[in-house]
Amino acid sequence: MKNYALAVLFVFISCLPAQAGLPKVLILATGGTIAGTGTTATQTAGYKAAVLPVESLLAAVPQIKELALVAGEQLAQVDSKNMTPAIWLKLAARINKAFSSGEADGVVVTHGTDTMEETAYFLNLTVKSSNTVVLTGAMRPSTALSADGAMNLYNAVAVAAERASENRGVLVCLNDQINGAREVTKTNTSTPDTFRSGDTGLLGYVQGGKPVYYKATVRVHTAQTAFDVLAATTLPRVEILYGYAGVSPAAAESLVAAKADGIIYAGVGNGSIYEEVLPVLKKASAAGTAVVRASRAGNGLITRNGEEADDLNGFITADNLTPQKARVLLMLALTKTRNPAEIQEIFLSY
Ligand code: ASP
Repeated sequence: MKNYALAVLFVFISCLPAQAGLPKVLILATGGTIAGTGTTATQTAGYKAAVLPVESLLAAVPQIKELALVAGEQLAQVDSKNMTPAIWLKLAARINKAFSSGEADGVVVTHGTDTMEETAYFLNLTVKSSNTVVLTGAMRPSTALSADGAMNLYNAVAVAAERASENRGVLVCLNDQINGAREVTKTNTSTPDTFRSGDTGLLGYVQGGKPVYYKATVRVHTAQTAFDVLAATTLPRVEILYGYAGVSPAAAESLVAAKADGIIYAGVGNGSIYEEVLPVLKKASAAGTAVVRASRAGNGLITRNGEEADDLNGFITADNLTPQKARVLLMLALTKTRNPAEIQEIFLSY
């Protein structure tokens, strides 16, 4: 009798749809070239981004149903040059809800490539879960020869569906490569291999529907971060100033007049500040504006009290974050504290 019951159970389980054991992956679409269309198959520039709805993106890759139980949702529809902190907050809230309610095991965000790295780092600091979040997009519109969106979406779902991807921080997956949100940056205006992590390198590859990892994300991320934006409707205002030979202090002065909460100085070399801009930034810091020294060089550490007197001036150094990533972190740091020493600790941890 016992054997009979076991046999019935076995037959029942084998008759369940193959999908039953698959992880649940929620796809949140925000626009970008992956949802873009051109007028001809050879048009790879000057096309219109953020046109196709999420249903069309999913319909173009029916194979993702073999990887996961997939649901799609249109969260925004923008060219990512128009991405805003308001959309970041909406995304973070939606993802946190999807994970805390058990609605999703993993999330894929489709996004324009221009500001993907900023959204990825924001989510890396505000998603309170070790479940996987992957951002993907495309460098060629859906109508182009060799459009890369469909394969990128397939790969992103494969990464999001895989347990080995968990607790690695938010990931960016395009061109078969998996990069970490903190380090990745767009390096080429038009080629599909645009995303790179500079000196620190990529985390892994995805091939044949499986990710392969070589590295972990070491800095504090996702479930371990101190930032909680659940109740936030706005974020502190942080602007970026660019350094170059002979830069006029006019831009720095106008940011001080506009009462920015924080200023990232994308300095030359080791975050060095032009002599005519320095007094403006010292004054801003003394008046309570958070001033962070970063570099326009793209790689390398900013040395505290190296080329500038940071302790004396109350400046903060950006570690190896690019100016645009330093801005994201400062916006969140300022939700916690305005004390430069505490903000410096945050920059050394995240
Ligand atoms: N301008 C587009 C965007 O960022 C570029 C892209 O998606 O590749 O939305």
